[in-house]
Amino acid sequence: MAEPSSPKKVVVLGSTGSIGESSLSVARDIPERMEVIGLAAHRRVDSLAKQLAEFDVKQGCIFDPKGLDQLKTQIADDVTLYTGEDGLVELATLPEADMVLIAIVGVAGLRPALAAIEAGKDIAVASKEILVMAGEAVMSAAREKGVRVLPVDSEHNAIFQCLEDRSPTDVSRLILTASGGPFRELPADQLATVTKAQALKHPTWAMGQKITIDSATLFNKGLEMIEARWLFDIEMQRVDVIVHPQSIVHSMVEFIDNSVLAQLSTADMCFPIQYAITWPDRVPNTLPPLDFAELAQLNFEAPRWDDFPALNLAKEAGEKGGTLPAVMNAANEVAVAAFLKELISFPKIWETVEETMSSHNSITHPSLEEIIDADLQARAKATELIS
Ligand code: NDP
Ligand code: MG
Repeated sequence: MAEPSSPKKVVVLGSTGSIGESSLSVARDIPERMEVIGLAAHRRVDSLAKQLAEFDVKQGCIFDPKGLDQLKTQIADDVTLYTGEDGLVELATLPEADMVLIAIVGVAGLRPALAAIEAGKDIAVASKEILVMAGEAVMSAAREKGVRVLPVDSEHNAIFQCLEDRSPTDVSRLILTASGGPFRELPADQLATVTKAQALKHPTWAMGQKITIDSATLFNKGLEMIEARWLFDIEMQRVDVIVHPQSIVHSMVEFIDNSVLAQLSTADMCFPIQYAITWPDRVPNTLPPLDFAELAQLNFEAPRWDDFPALNLAKEAGEKGGTLPAVMNAANEVAVAAFLKELISFPKIWETVEETMSSHNSITHPSLEEIIDADLQARAKATELIS
């Protein structure tokens, strides 16, 4: 364990969400390694004000400008505040920042991520949408600038730990583990009747609402397959999924000699967040160790590919590439939002995505503008299919 001279200066975008709060727990746990210097949220003014005060942060961003006046009354005079996408970009490119942790749900994190890379910052990415939509562009920009894209998503962080910068030619398969969600054992003919409340009861992880629904449909795992494809430069055919209900093995890498390495810990996002911050060092913390005797067993089973079409749709999107993954992601966001408003049934989520994808003419090697355009078109199409 190397002792650095000063803590890493980190900007957290999406600090008031589930991952954002876990990131701040890590900052409390290892202050000698992580100093928070910028915080951004969408509209939760009270939480953001508390965070700015607790960590004595001098740069904040509230995306929705309607919250600005209220926020000003709750913070110290020497804090500089920004709003909107320009504000996020301002924080993502702060000259003193060493790393930008992106934990914004949805597409709003994409431009700030690219701006951070352009400014030569390492990025820690929780927002899988960024890599699903624009993985090719993000990874090639990072390579060009010589900056690191450190995965926070637990599966990808696990793979990152197992790979340790080995060449993709050493790898035979990346094996993503999936909890299977709350409907892992539900007969297929009952999926049409599941409620929002049932879908929001995740068996192992406490997360934001969007990703919890994605875990129930398995779109989360589908998005993660595409995320892995870009992060590790491994084509989709070598990205596999196995259901592991206990969420203790966070993912595995099978090498060409058929040896498999796995990363294990309790299901707490502080583990991957900490490693993304301290990499390549390992440092002690107050997180709970594993008790194998108490666990007693770890189970694995094949995913139900036919009953949960999200996996096959993601496979198709990842293999075809171009703008299709962005279209899948956008249609899914619209459908999940409608399901959360109890406007559509659970299977209508993947039906909407499938129809939106099949109506799209994918563009190969798209520009950022083409990706954003495909995203907008897919949102309009999915909205039309739902209404
Ligand atoms: P939450 O819904 O809990 O939090 C989202 C955060 O993003 C909030 O801080 C929200 O602010 C902020 N936000 C939303 N839009 C904007 C915007 N335009 N500008 C600035 N901030 C914004 O989500 P999660 O923390 O669960 O997930 C965040 C990302 O991490 C997602 O991409 C998810 O897929 C990924 N992820 C999450 C995991 C988890 O365990 N939760 C695991 C792996 C990946 P406000 O509070 O003001 O609304
Ligand atoms: Mg994950």
